[in-house]
Amino acid sequence: MTFDILFNEQLDKLKDDGNYRVFAQLERHTGKFPQASEHGQDEARDVTIWCSNDYLGMGHHPDVIAAMTRTAESCGTGAGGTRNISGNAIHHLALENELADLHGKESALLFTSGYVSNWAALSTLGARLPNAVILSDEGNHASMIEGIRHSKAQKVIWKHNDVEDLDRKLAALPANTTKIVAFESVYSMDGDICPMREIIEVAEKHGAMTYLDEVHAVGMYGPRGGGISEREGLADRITLIEGTLGKAYGVVGGYITGSEALCDFIRSFASGFIFTTALPPAVAAAAQTSIKHLKTSDVERKGQQAQVAQLRHKLDRAGIPHLMNKSHIIPVMIKDPVKTRMIADYLMEQYGIYVQPINYPTVPKGTERLRFTPGPCHTDADIDHLVNALSTLWKQCAVSHAVA
Ligand SMILES: *Cc1c(COP(=O)(O)O)cnc(C)c1O
Repeated sequence: MTFDILFNEQLDKLKDDGNYRVFAQLERHTGKFPQASEHGQDEARDVTIWCSNDYLGMGHHPDVIAAMTRTAESCGTGAGGTRNISGNAIHHLALENELADLHGKESALLFTSGYVSNWAALSTLGARLPNAVILSDEGNHASMIEGIRHSKAQKVIWKHNDVEDLDRKLAALPANTTKIVAFESVYSMDGDICPMREIIEVAEKHGAMTYLDEVHAVGMYGPRGGGISEREGLADRITLIEGTLGKAYGVVGGYITGSEALCDFIRSFASGFIFTTALPPAVAAAAQTSIKHLKTSDVERKGQQAQVAQLRHKLDRAGIPHLMNKSHIIPVMIKDPVKTRMIADYLMEQYGIYVQPINYPTVPKGTERLRFTPGPCHTDADIDHLVNALSTLWKQCAVSHAVA
């Protein structure tokens, strides 16, 4: 009981700052996405989800659901332990082959989430490679930051997407270091895309390894969904490509791909791989089905691109400022934590629109925003309803129309 005072002190501070996180209580319904039921009030009501990372609606794809249920029925629910103890399920190996093929790599290794894959791979590389130095883009995801910290390797932060800064910092390192350049393709908060070719060229010039997080790109970019590295024809020049099965692929899990020796090295030394129960075979089968589908089907990607373009256009017409970028992520800037929360609450209560406010520490203070991710399942009417609601609230809440 007395310890609660300590917990509450910090929670109260968070609430005073407007940074306390409240989660919506949602129930999704197969086939209806992005419509869902919200259970926050006395009775459930319909809302439209506008911030899902199930970017393409693959979490509801009949083939993906069928693969999951069929495999659960034939193989049971859990994997029964770590792969160290319980062995590989054939479904794990089949999925790893699918992933290696997706990125044109020799090998792949599965983890229980994208977070764990970044944490485990970076901490193992940083801890075990001789004189490792990890050069980390300042916008990198928490999972990479934690992995680097845990590795205890020297860390050098370079300015976001700034290739000249990276070049300078690589040049300053002694010759006997093993240099690892860690970065993302699509950054999920601003939706900006890295200058991948330039980063690779600088890394190659200095003999550095490249570590790329494609979490917000796999499934959505490239002719087979292999991400920005596939679209740009650069995958073979990246040492390690990391991704998730939980976002555009609509399931759960994470992975790395690279050379056989690299994946064997992580498999053999990464605590975050060795000492945790493997993904359920049914999850692996569902993820493989989703990846396979998106390797040949372009319908979902085309639908997403069309709805993203439409929302941007209609926001522009309504004078609602949003960050310009070349991805599928549309950040609408409010720049105030309390107003961001308030507008999100009004959207939910008055318009049945669900979008999670993005506040500190996910983004820097003063850049609070709503982050919209239109997908192939959003209708034109959904988009009109959203833009009308935002226009009304913009006036009511006196938010600036100044361009972000
Ligand atoms: C979400 C995310 C991850 C973690 O992936 P999960 O599968 O959700 O654990 C890793 N990197 C980035 C950039 C992410 O946004």
